[in-house]
Amino acid sequence: MSDCKYFVPGPTWVRPEILAELTRPMIGHRSAEFKELFHRINAGLKSLFATRQDTFVITASGTGVMQAALENCVARRVLVTTCGAFSERWYSIAESLGLEVDRLDAGWGNAVDPDALATHMERHRTHYDAVTITHNETSTGVTNDVAALAAVVHDESPDTLVLVDAVSSLGGMPVLFDDWKLDVCLASVQKGLALPPGITVVATSQQALDRAKKHPYRGTYFDFLAYKQKADEDSVPSTPSLPHFFALAKQLDAILGEEGLEARFERHRRMRDITIERTSRFAKLAAVDPAHASTTVSALSAINPDAIRAEMKKRGYTLGGGYGQWKDTTFRIGHMGDVTIEALEEMLDVLSEVTRA
Ligand code: PLP
Repeated sequence: MSDCKYFVPGPTWVRPEILAELTRPMIGHRSAEFKELFHRINAGLKSLFATRQDTFVITASGTGVMQAALENCVARRVLVTTCGAFSERWYSIAESLGLEVDRLDAGWGNAVDPDALATHMERHRTHYDAVTITHNETSTGVTNDVAALAAVVHDESPDTLVLVDAVSSLGGMPVLFDDWKLDVCLASVQKGLALPPGITVVATSQQALDRAKKHPYRGTYFDFLAYKQKADEDSVPSTPSLPHFFALAKQLDAILGEEGLEARFERHRRMRDITIERTSRFAKLAAVDPAHASTTVSALSAINPDAIRAEMKKRGYTLGGGYGQWKDTTFRIGHMGDVTIEALEEMLDVLSEVTRA
């Protein structure tokens, strides 16, 4: 029997070995030991993001770094592509910063269509400083084709930056920062990386850093240039969450070394397929086009999803609830991070019994 009984799409189940890293004695963040730790982490992050450009770790949740991306890269106008609650978050952050925001909405359950993005950018003569893309929309279980969407932005407007939220995709599916020509890509660590919440990893392009240079009032805590300058010395601008750094280093070794990225992605694809197949009797996949069904989270519509979750809870299993406007009609199964196929199958056996009763 697996001891993983937690199938929420973030925070996800954390392996005991990783939790143990959080209790290590502190080290000074200006010490040689920290530099070594940072160096190791940064090498791993470059493999994870498939980039040769800059990567940092910021002690904040993903929302903080979404705000940071806008503060560093957008002076005036931004186009936000939306298809659910988390992609809409870019919109509300941009509004709260006083930016001019346009929105291209695909509707909940859909993926953003690259042709619709091309049409929008052709028709709107407006110049956008940046376009935001949410790789994996956790509220609906839909994965956007970032490569295709980023290519549209580059074709239509070469100096528009591409800002990507990979919060629930990084570590669970390929994220190719350099090949896709992204400018900022961020992920908090409590999803595909299966760490406790509290830090966010981010990759930035040279264009993003050049853009930041032009914004004198980009603040202090989230200043990408300060992170870049310090990263070049294997350091950080202010005191980081050291326990998370220990855990991240260990987890990167496991992801890249022990399991391997390709095997990890394949495990996630299998978990998605198993989940869809084994829930089809009583639930309907909320993603409109199965080709965009996420490999990290399945949003499922069912009759009385809360009752299903409550019955599962009685048996020791925690499933995710519906989110936002889908709160009452869906539930979500997080099958990401370090969740094993064995653990998922065990949970689905119980779910099967519960829904037959
Ligand atoms: N983006 C996506 C796709 C998410 O799933 C979440 C959280 O669930 C966020 C952003 C917000 O991240 P955080 O909770 O780390 O601020």
